[in-house]
Amino acid sequence: MFKPVLGAAVALAALTIAPALSASAVQDPAPAPQSYEAQRAAVPAAKAAAVRAQVAQSVTARPLLRVPFRCGETWSGASRAGHSPSYYAVDLNWGSGSDDLGKPVKTSAAGTVVRSSYDAGGYGNYIEIAHGDGWHTLYAHLQNRGVAVGDHVTDSQQIGHVGGTGNVTAPHLHYEQIKDGVVVAALFGTSTWVAYPGPAGYTRIRDC
Ligand SMILES: [Zn+2]
Repeated sequence: MFKPVLGAAVALAALTIAPALSASAVQDPAPAPQSYEAQRAAVPAAKAAAVRAQVAQSVTARPLLRVPFRCGETWSGASRAGHSPSYYAVDLNWGSGSDDLGKPVKTSAAGTVVRSSYDAGGYGNYIEIAHGDGWHTLYAHLQNRGVAVGDHVTDSQQIGHVGGTGNVTAPHLHYEQIKDGVVVAALFGTSTWVAYPGPAGYTRIRDC
């Protein structure tokens, strides 16, 4: 179990009451073997552990990453054992049922788009953005993609809409914070650690 660098009291102080979502809901089942999502899951365990240990040593070395939605919206984030490609990926839902379908998705930070593609049997429509020093964010199952590889994006640019493309059972945003190819525990802003497995509520409050 991951231990956040900051105390639990700090992390919990920034959380809000989560909308109803079963922690056991499997919204994106195991991907097809040929999918990019499955390739990403194939990181050697030793490498993943080394990167996560390195990242845990210095919060200040991380880019400042925001909740990838418009300010004022509270999204429920959750993960689960067996979540592909990593337990540290986060599935984000708004409202109930398909309420989140078509809601705008925004960047977590400024960067350069390194992937904008369709991953059959996995992520569906997905976008991967590089933020420097090996840090990436990834946004999957999108309804559509508004940016292309090589595009420079600002810190709150709308890049697409929440969808249900790829290997999913319900619309949601599958989101990852990545360092050197390894999905790491997500941190929003400077102190809001994602509570694994959740669910917990997350709201963007800056760079609106
Ligand atoms: Zn997911």
